[in-house]
Amino acid sequence: MNREQALALDAADTLAPLRELFSLPDGLIYLDGNSLGVLPRATAARVQAVVTQEWGCDLIRSWNSAGWMDLPQRIGDKIARLVGAGAGELVVADSTSVNLFKVLSAALAIAAADAPQRRRIVSERSNFPTDLYIAESLARQRGLELVLAEPDEITGLMDERVAVLMLTHVNYRTGRLHDMAALSQAAHEAGALAVWDLAHSAGAVPVDLRGDGADFAVGCGYKYLNGGPGAPAFVWCHPRHAERFWQPLAGWMGHAAPFEFTPGYRPAAGIARYLCGTPAVLSLAALECGVDTLLAAEPLGGMAALRAKSLALTSLFAARVQALCPELALISPPQDVRRGSQVCLAHGEIAYPVVQALIARGVIGDFRAGDPSHPAGAVDILRFGFTPLYLRFADAWDAAEHLHQVLSTGEWRQPAFIQRRAVT
Ligand SMILES: *Cc1c(COP(=O)(O)O)cnc(C)c1O
Repeated sequence: MNREQALALDAADTLAPLRELFSLPDGLIYLDGNSLGVLPRATAARVQAVVTQEWGCDLIRSWNSAGWMDLPQRIGDKIARLVGAGAGELVVADSTSVNLFKVLSAALAIAAADAPQRRRIVSERSNFPTDLYIAESLARQRGLELVLAEPDEITGLMDERVAVLMLTHVNYRTGRLHDMAALSQAAHEAGALAVWDLAHSAGAVPVDLRGDGADFAVGCGYKYLNGGPGAPAFVWCHPRHAERFWQPLAGWMGHAAPFEFTPGYRPAAGIARYLCGTPAVLSLAALECGVDTLLAAEPLGGMAALRAKSLALTSLFAARVQALCPELALISPPQDVRRGSQVCLAHGEIAYPVVQALIARGVIGDFRAGDPSHPAGAVDILRFGFTPLYLRFADAWDAAEHLHQVLSTGEWRQPAFIQRRAVT
């Protein structure tokens, strides 16, 4: 393949017009939409209107007149379409970490009621740290055991000791995509519940929460949903579980009738009880614009079409890097069915300065440090997320070329690239 063929793929790409929905700085190849999605063109004007009109002029009346109160459900229904959930089953609120605390608590409460002898939470050793910290804290609080395993060991651990299997669908370090259906089924056959974190899958890969047998799910608003820095997250429960227990953060927005101001808590029906406090209206306005960029793909084939393009982009980039940069090891799965929307490369020593040198060239990926205490995860990683809504095949081609040049010229050796910054 050559660059002309990459350009031809762009010319034939039926999703290409979606790039126009984004405000991308000229000359930038942005491969970090898995960490912070790009600004949609509609967002600034929408947030401006909410600030000047809804807040500035209509003030408190906007809770009713502008539908502020319904934003968690309204945007939740839109996200539900992307993840295989039904309308009214998913709400937007709080952060991913906080939502995980809620659903893991609820899952553990169900397990404690149905099968109190089950004392284990099982997760993946290289799961995203906040997920592991939340699980660790709940395990301490309830006297349970958090068991961490490698991906291939998980099915074998599903037995009568397990209360909850808690996994992130696409691993943030490796880009490995778990088989949600098979693992949820393995958990269920062992009598456990399956909690899924969709931080790197909502808006990136097709997700079918209902079809794949998930029990609970959470996900992130600022990654592939393009909701903006610190955007609110989402939370979903299978309707058969939603009303079994209170979630632990029983705030007034999860009350059946918040504006009755009664002293006693009565949980709302369904997923609404997973709300806690007042909705973050400005952030929700921005998030809705981000989610709308994904719904704009629906007439063009939706998540299935985005997935096909994402796989084509990541395979093109991975193949070019393997041809040009033999010193980098491909960590993300080469098989399409096991790869999320990112390409991860490993290098023992120079991953950090190489990423910095690429950023200086306008190719933005990121760096994730290895964990020396963990044999399978010790190595430093260069991570490149591919968002099919706005990336072109020529971008994938050029990014690999830049990476090759940074390595072959030794450009990464410049002192400015070696200095570690606070946010990697
Ligand atoms: C990005 C990410 C988070 C982020 O959690 P916050 O509460 O938004 O900081 C959590 N879990 C996973 C798996 C992630 O990838």
